[in-house]
Amino acid sequence: MKISKNLIIMGLFGLATLATAQNKEPNQTKGLAVFEKKGKFQPYEFARHAVGDNDIHIEILYAGICHSDLHHVHADWGKEEFPMVPGHEIVGRVVKTGKGVTKFKIGDYAGIGCMIGSCRTCEACKHDHEQYCEKGAIMTYHGIDRYNNNEHTQGGYSKDYVVAEDFAIKIPADAQIEKVAPLLCAGITTYSPIMFAGVTKGDNVGIAGFGGLGHMGVKYAVALGADVTVFDITEDKRQDAMRMGAKRYVNVNNPEDLKDLSNSFSFILNTIPANYDINMYLKMLKYDGQLGIVGLPAFANMPSISLDKFIWQGNRKIFGSQIGGIRETQEMLNYSVKNNIYPEVKIINADGSLVDEAYQNVLDGKVKFRYVIDMKTLK
Ligand SMILES: [Zn+2]
Ligand SMILES: [Zn+2]
Repeated sequence: MKISKNLIIMGLFGLATLATAQNKEPNQTKGLAVFEKKGKFQPYEFARHAVGDNDIHIEILYAGICHSDLHHVHADWGKEEFPMVPGHEIVGRVVKTGKGVTKFKIGDYAGIGCMIGSCRTCEACKHDHEQYCEKGAIMTYHGIDRYNNNEHTQGGYSKDYVVAEDFAIKIPADAQIEKVAPLLCAGITTYSPIMFAGVTKGDNVGIAGFGGLGHMGVKYAVALGADVTVFDITEDKRQDAMRMGAKRYVNVNNPEDLKDLSNSFSFILNTIPANYDINMYLKMLKYDGQLGIVGLPAFANMPSISLDKFIWQGNRKIFGSQIGGIRETQEMLNYSVKNNIYPEVKIINADGSLVDEAYQNVLDGKVKFRYVIDMKTLK
């Protein structure tokens, strides 16, 4: 169908038009998709829009597996469209640039995080917080790209991606590229609230949930000079927490560990993606302390606050935070590479059954700490 259209155009307008028409062709690509809720990963061929004047075409090298990907595949956060190619921790190489592109050249490393578009004009966008766009940020997958013919977006477990250069992150040539992908979600999701809370040297900081997000939170808080306490539900990660610079590890299933923690923390970052006792953490905040929440459990499994205790304890604050804007994501990336802060990754080949296995391990809390798929191995 597309070929015959081009032939007609060529007949009418000649070769110059053919060249333009070819540039406007969608980019055929392939990836790993699930075809139903909780489905298995299988190869999937699909198209992305043509490279526009301000777009770059990225050949994907690595894609991280985020716990959010599991929530989407499991439809924990509402209705989902299938087939779905997850993945919003993406790094690759620029292979093509639109004629208006100024930030990237062919051969550069580029990254994509959780969003690929926004209105750019609302208050949130004007303040570099595109993730809170009043018209809705366009997500990297499970989104509708209203600026590209309402394309249903598909994520980074794939060969390539076409994205507006303003929503791509520059990655220095000397970065440890196989470890960069998780910075684009796990990194910024923890960096942003830590900065928002104003964490500084000597602060008593708690990081609740010591997985993909939590371990990045520990690294940033330690780098800022905070005294860090890690909370998780297992003994298996105690040594890892101390190795990463934490001063204390609390296994919340061990009552001994929980002693003497009331009114202790100026900031607790909560990354837990399942139900938990939020009131226990509120009680640990000291006067004027803050609880930042980034972990989002399934809608059917949310913690709830005891308002009586929250009011009686008083003068503590709770805030929510979702990823970070593009400006701050670039700042986080530069900071991380400069200070040698990277996630701890386990790299797997882009094989459906290996991704299925990785998902089960994430669900069981067995991964230390982030799976990254080597997309170059996709057959
Ligand atoms: Zn994520
Ligand atoms: Zn906006």
